[in-house]
Amino acid sequence: MSDLKLCQGTRCHTYCTKDRLKGTKENKTFQTRRRSSMYYGSGNFCSMQCYNDWAETFIDKAVDHFGRLTEPKHLTEENAWVKDYDWRRTTDDEHRYYTVNKISKEQRPLTEEQYRDSNYTLNER
Ligand SMILES: [Zn+2]
Repeated sequence: MSDLKLCQGTRCHTYCTKDRLKGTKENKTFQTRRRSSMYYGSGNFCSMQCYNDWAETFIDKAVDHFGRLTEPKHLTEENAWVKDYDWRRTTDDEHRYYTVNKISKEQRPLTEEQYRDSNYTLNER
């Protein structure tokens, strides 16, 4: 049993590297890479090349599917909160977490839990 994932690159198998050559003696073929973890495109691609190959093939369909912008977005005080931290700035030598509004420059403290919670935000949706 393995938890190997396949690279989603559309042309991964066409890059003739040693590690892609798999199979028994007479039947070796270049194959899509399998890895336990990959670093590109949220863990879906083995390399930037494979990420770019996929994007070239599917990006228009993906953008249309998930909603193409038809008007510019605006950064206002209501959606300008970003999270940040100061390296080891508390008396306990821990990071000081905060959220800062990029428009008003207001800062508010955060707990580490709030900082790490990707759903926690002061931004209006
Ligand atoms: Zn690949």
